[in-house]
Amino acid sequence: MTNFQDRWPDPSSKQLVPKINKSFLRVLLLTLLGSFSVLYALPSHADGKHEFHFEVSRGDVFYKFFFTAGLNGELLNKMMKADERASRLGHIAPGDKFKITLDDNHDLKKIVFQPLNANPLLITYSKQKFRFVSVNIQPTEPLTHSTVVITKSLNYDGKKAGIEPEVIDLIIANFTWAMDFSRDLQKGDKFILAWDGGSTPSAIIYVGARKTIALFAYTGSTNGKNYYDINGKTLNDSFEFSALKKYSRISSSFTKSRWHPVLKKYRSHKGTDFAAPKGRPVYATAKGTVKHVVVVSGYGNVVYLSHGTEIVTLYAHLSKFAKGIKKGQKIKKGQLVGYVGSTGLATGPHLHYEIRINGVHQDAEKVKLPKQLSIPTNTLSGFKSKAKSLLAQLGIK
Ligand SMILES: [Zn+2]
Repeated sequence: MTNFQDRWPDPSSKQLVPKINKSFLRVLLLTLLGSFSVLYALPSHADGKHEFHFEVSRGDVFYKFFFTAGLNGELLNKMMKADERASRLGHIAPGDKFKITLDDNHDLKKIVFQPLNANPLLITYSKQKFRFVSVNIQPTEPLTHSTVVITKSLNYDGKKAGIEPEVIDLIIANFTWAMDFSRDLQKGDKFILAWDGGSTPSAIIYVGARKTIALFAYTGSTNGKNYYDINGKTLNDSFEFSALKKYSRISSSFTKSRWHPVLKKYRSHKGTDFAAPKGRPVYATAKGTVKHVVVVSGYGNVVYLSHGTEIVTLYAHLSKFAKGIKKGQKIKKGQLVGYVGSTGLATGPHLHYEIRINGVHQDAEKVKLPKQLSIPTNTLSGFKSKAKSLLAQLGIK
């Protein structure tokens, strides 16, 4: 039987400290060698794989993927020195993806770096030379895309997914025409962003429990880059000039200062008055969301509609609200909001109509409002087939 007393030094012995240090160093060395051999040697051609896919998790470093693909440190050093763009590999974030492809001899052929929210980087290695391509990645390469899964809000989850604030604003500006971000967005809904090398996505697709809304970037010669649905139309609406089908005249235009007959003093008139008999229907001038249905002292019965993130229209002095109209409700262009009246400060029945852009009152007779854009018919079929193939690549029906 082994006498344990013989194997372990007496704690009082002066030998103890150096002995422990020695064995500790030995263990440490073996551990280090072990992990290096895993990194350097293990993948060697054993599994015969030529293609390696990696997704970055917290704490990952690029060389780990490089070594896992069976490539060595010497080649890594060579690559890092070959082009300053290689420094991007030192700043990887969770969700970024790599594809490392080897040739028949298991030498490096190419690396595709697909960051969650930046231009992809293609690095090829041929005849002992590295070549870096950071834009216009080959069309045969898999599509780069980012996914934002909603847990709290687009702002919160988008930021967490590494999406630039400008891109989040872009999503909101386009999608608010079709959805209310504070009400419609559900946990588990997704925004999928496709990237083709630009600083803004080539497509933005909302996938919700009840609906999917897909928008595709298209750069036209007159309107620049905009996002269009599969039918080639932007989600925003064009505005009608008048909320009334018929009015007798504009009884008061937008003006900085005018004599107010009721208040009996000079006052600016920040809207346009359309004279019409009491009870005439008032319609939404564009599609939007009901922001307020309220009674305000000067305005009387008033409805505020918001259209996208920037535009608000207001319909005042109504004799009655449209039946059932309520805050948060989506409204179509031409949908009834109420009836002409003279509630509030009004001398006679008329519709007081206002347009505000980012809170600033506009003259409805002069303001240029954004219009719904359409893709020119001669390029529409090409646009549609591109959009369809993109959806297919992303596995979206
Ligand atoms: Zn007015």
